[in-house]
Formats: sequence, C-alpha cells, structure tokens
Amino acid sequence: MFISFAQHLYSRLTKTLHAMNPTCIFCKIATGQAKATLLHQDDLVTAFRDIHPVAPTHILVIPNRHIESVNFVTPQDEPVLGRLFTVARHLAEQEGIAHSGYRIIVNTNADGGQTVFHLHMHVIGGQRMRYPMG
Ligand code: 5GP
Ligand code: ZN
Repeated sequence: MFISFAQHLYSRLTKTLHAMNPTCIFCKIATGQAKATLLHQDDLVTAFRDIHPVAPTHILVIPNRHIESVNFVTPQDEPVLGRLFTVARHLAEQEGIAHSGYRIIVNTNADGGQTVFHLHMHVIGGQRMRYPMG
C-alpha cells in the first residue's frame, strides 16, 4: 500500500517535471514556483490574472504542460485545448462578463505579438472593444 502510494507520487512528480520547461514563467506559475492570482487549476489547465491587464477582466488560461505555441499543438493535445475553452466559459460567467461579452485571443510568434512562449488564451472583457485592435 505504502509502496504503491510512493510510486504514485514519484510518477506524478516525474510527469510534472518532464512536462515543465525550467526557464518558463508560465510553467513556474502552473507548478506553484512563481506567484500569480490563480482563479482555477485542474489536471489539464491553470487560469490566473494577467499581471498587466488591458481591460477590467484579463485572465490567462494555459495548459499545465509546456506547449510553446499553437504551432506545436498535436491531435493528442485536443483534450487540453477543449478544456481551455470550457474553463474560459466558466470564468467569463464567474467574472460576470458572459452576457456583456468578451474576447479570446491566442497570439502566435512575432507577428501575432506573442511574448511568452507557453501557449495561453487571453480572456478579456468588462469593456467594449474595437476590432481589429492593431
Ligand atoms: P502574449 O503577448 O505572449 O500573448 O501575452 C503574454 C501575457 O502574459 C501578457 O499579457 C503579460 O502581461 C502576461 N505576463 C507576462 N509575465 C507574467 C507573469 O509573470 N505573471 C502574470 N500573471 N502575467 C504575466
Ligand atoms: Zn512553460
């Protein structure tokens, strides 16, 4: 019994470490090694407030596993990609912006304006937004 629990913990730890990029700030937030205002965490994704909000609500939803950008997603990632949306929907309701509306953005590489290379979904709302934003 004790051995199997120890094996379980060891396997969880090694899985977490293998999925982690030690230089990535979002990996550190997902594993609790860096601080953030966490709003949600489950087996696949973590959500927290953006440190420089561009609107009254600005949440980032990320896969727990390090995926550099949309350019690196595979069919195996489809469960986690779906979870990003269901968590975004839940948080939009919780923030009271589901009805007024919000914008979901996933920036990719330089032209997309990506600055943190761990896939993330911005959930932005609480004010009327123009499109395109430039
Ligand atoms: P990107 O430009 O890559 O799409 O978005 C990266 C976002 O991450 C930016 O909105 C930026 O403010 C946010 N960000 C960068 N570093 C941190 C951090 O350490 N903590 C939090 N909460 N947000 C961060
Ligand atoms: Zn990462």
